[in-house]
Amino acid sequence: MMTEMRIGQGFDAHRFEPGLRLVLGGVEIPHGQGLQAHSDGDVLIHALCDALLGAAGWGDIGRHFPDSDPAYAGIDSRILLRQVIERLASAGWGLVNADLTIVAQAPKLAHIEAMRLCLAGDLRVDPQRVNIKATTTEGMGFTGRGEGVGAFAVVLLEERPVE
Ligand code: MG
Repeated sequence: MMTEMRIGQGFDAHRFEPGLRLVLGGVEIPHGQGLQAHSDGDVLIHALCDALLGAAGWGDIGRHFPDSDPAYAGIDSRILLRQVIERLASAGWGLVNADLTIVAQAPKLAHIEAMRLCLAGDLRVDPQRVNIKATTTEGMGFTGRGEGVGAFAVVLLEERPVE
């Protein structure tokens, strides 16, 4: 019997705001400004959650964790990610791999490995199943002008016996 597999993709972007903490992939990066959002603004985790929910056919992060709900104000996005993984596991979906891209002109991202380990832990997979890349847009567009950060995520899920 063939194991059912599902692909999902996610995209998110957030605007920089002075005085906020910058958190990407669960890792705090000293930058003097952070990303504006209802949560902690972790654009990489938001793209990842959208990819995971998309693969399962479950809509998007806004449907599961609405902006209008004060329970999610300033929330650590890792909590949302762990909840998504928990719901997927309960429904019989396991993550095969995730491939993520951060789009930012600055800061220079020397924290990729730390993000990978952090996300692999929350995703409950070996770090080799999580890949994180970063690119600038060579000064073009909103990321190039330093107005914010974008992130793309692609994931593959496979059917697993429910734990
Ligand atoms: Mg977001």
